[in-house]
Amino acid sequence: MITSNEEKIQFFQYLDFLPTPALIAKEYKNDKSGKTLFVNKAFIDTIGYKVDEIPNHLSFTMRAYPDLNYRREVKRDWLEQISRLGKDNCSLVQLCTKVRCKDQKYRWFEIRTELRNTIGDGIIIILFNNIDKAKNQVLEYQELSRKDPLTKLNNRRYMQQLLDQEKSHFESETNVSPFSLVMADIDFFKNINDTYGHNCGDMVIETVAKIMKQSTRKMDVVARWGGEEFLLLLPKTNVIEARIVVKKIMKKIHEQRFNWKEHSFNISLTYGITGFKKGEEIDETINRADHCLYQGKEMGRNCLVADNFFESWRS
Ligand code: GH3
Ligand code: MG
Ligand code: MG
Repeated sequence: MITSNEEKIQFFQYLDFLPTPALIAKEYKNDKSGKTLFVNKAFIDTIGYKVDEIPNHLSFTMRAYPDLNYRREVKRDWLEQISRLGKDNCSLVQLCTKVRCKDQKYRWFEIRTELRNTIGDGIIIILFNNIDKAKNQVLEYQELSRKDPLTKLNNRRYMQQLLDQEKSHFESETNVSPFSLVMADIDFFKNINDTYGHNCGDMVIETVAKIMKQSTRKMDVVARWGGEEFLLLLPKTNVIEARIVVKKIMKKIHEQRFNWKEHSFNISLTYGITGFKKGEEIDETINRADHCLYQGKEMGRNCLVADNFFESWRS
């Protein structure tokens, strides 16, 4: 245990030799407290803030996590870990967060601290392990594993996860509006490949993907479900509202002229729309959307079928 001030200062200065950014704080009990006593050289070199810029815990979190929602998320994680302390003889708090550094760049750090009062006087050392490179690489791979390389839309596997999440979210909370699914498939796509070639087919798929993204809200999810088949997840949207979204897409597709070499042509899609019914498996919803799509194909394509409702394209 360090007792004299002289010893403390010596110890703090010793941390300047540590290659890991470190911050020393006192009485880290709540936002208002957590007075910053010292930051080492590696902290200033990497994160940038000096003691007078982050005099307490609150000022640090305001600078490091300017986004309110993210700040809340970090705080929640932190408090959750603290609530688990003591169990299993553990006094280590460890968080992975994206910190805004003084140069305004965001970097990932694994923040760890030992809350057992080893130094004395309620003093704790918080280490900021720079994991930016590794974390970004992981995120990049994760992104790649979720996307379809041609359209950059979500792939089927990731869409399946998102659908499961949406179902749990819908079922775990009261007063959540229902969500709808739209299964869409390009009409006579094989003809496009056969007539103009596979590359032209790819261009058509890419353009359709773009139109779907442009016609939907940020919270909607568009996925490439199969070759020329797309699945849309429309949260907080009933079937009637989903029909309006689909009609918007239909209009844009109708207006889109496709140019390939000396050729120019139009395409259409057929759409199956259905709403999620509480208690059912998500596969049942998907199958129903698929069934509606199939009915639409049977009825001559370039149309939408929403549960029991049929509507053909009218310009
Ligand atoms: P329908 O109106 O009934 O949907 O007829 P269709 O010709 O669109 O349907 P079909 O299932 O017979 O043909 C789909 C074709 O899509 C067959 C497949 O070779 C092609 N396809 C699948 N994935 C891709 C891709 O990534 N690029 C291209 N160019 N073609 C693809
Ligand atoms: Mg097709
Ligand atoms: Mg198909």
